[in-house]
Amino acid sequence: MKLKILVTAGDGIGPEVTREAVAVLNEVAALSGHTLSIAEARIGGVAIVQDGTPLPQATIDAALDSNAVLLGAVGGNEFNSLTPDKRPEAGLLGLRAALGGFANLRPAFAFKELAVNSPLRPEIVDGADILFVRELLGGLYFGQPRAWDRAKGEAWNTMRYTRDEVVRVARIAFQLAQKRSKKLTSVDKANVLEVSQLWRATVTEIAAEFPDVTLEHQYVDAMSMHLMNRPRDFDVVLTENLFGDILTDESAVITGSLGMLPSATLGGKVNFYEPVHGSAPDIAGKGLANPLGAIMSGALLLRYSGGLEKEAKVIESSVRKVLEQGFRTTDLVRGDKTGLTVLSTTAMGVKVRETVKTLLA
Ligand code: NAD
Repeated sequence: MKLKILVTAGDGIGPEVTREAVAVLNEVAALSGHTLSIAEARIGGVAIVQDGTPLPQATIDAALDSNAVLLGAVGGNEFNSLTPDKRPEAGLLGLRAALGGFANLRPAFAFKELAVNSPLRPEIVDGADILFVRELLGGLYFGQPRAWDRAKGEAWNTMRYTRDEVVRVARIAFQLAQKRSKKLTSVDKANVLEVSQLWRATVTEIAAEFPDVTLEHQYVDAMSMHLMNRPRDFDVVLTENLFGDILTDESAVITGSLGMLPSATLGGKVNFYEPVHGSAPDIAGKGLANPLGAIMSGALLLRYSGGLEKEAKVIESSVRKVLEQGFRTTDLVRGDKTGLTVLSTTAMGVKVRETVKTLLA
């Protein structure tokens, strides 16, 4: 198998975590006889500084010419005064739109070893394994009209969905549910918003195509509470863009750290992989970033863009083994450190690669 991957490392801890993810991918490829050709391109703050735009055309072209894109994160405090369309985050939204991926998969898996890290009681989180499917190209982040009229002191955004946009992401979520526990929870705010009423009606209609999957609906406000009270009751969770953004960050509490969450964006011209976290300017350059979310995003890349299920599982098992052996980055340590070894970003990457080697030997 040959895979052409574009890496857009971005800002802050983005380059630190993607470096480790790429090293793991190269290790897996070398040991299992696959060829990865990896190129790099700029996005976000680094592109604003060097190219005068958060999304250079060269980055879009290189991305469209790849089999998969692996992104780090974008953003930095020095860009906070820019208007939303000029900020680093506009580069990310632009690239997502250019690639066209609309189904953002965000697995939130509670590793047993990290249950003590969660502010929730271990018996609540232990065994939680949720796959969020977040619609990524519609809703409030893209809807028009949008503006901030400074003179009037008024600003507005539009939450807008078409039936077709809901149909295509719902089908992906139902298909994923078929391969898991055949249970799907759709999250909306249909008691208040017309756009959510369209969402609920459409998801209910698509459910008829998947009679083996049990569908339930939840309101987003109630869901944010259920996720903390009983996360193990959920399997595949389908929701729209804004609600998915918020609920998946909330689910970092289940996994023990935001640094543990990978993601894959499917359905477009080229699939797109990135850890859920941002550029974390507060810890950038200090060797404190947890690279496991980025490394597990690499596993998703092999699974969904390369069809390399065995190799993806090797990476995921390596992460599990490293945690079982007591290795942690700083964000994964709370309270008692007995039996734990705290590693830098690079050292954690090395441990995962060593384990990959052992598993593939
Ligand atoms: P953030 O995810 O960068 O950080 C939130 C907190 O989690 C911070 O305390 C940070 O240190 C910690 N954290 C995040 N990732 C970590 C990791 N891998 N290891 C250890 N700790 C980690 O969110 P924020 O602080 O709200 O945003 C910072 C910047 O990132 C902003 O400019 C924001 O717009 C941007 N952002 C980008 C993306 C993206 O590129 N996909 C996503 C979210 C936020």
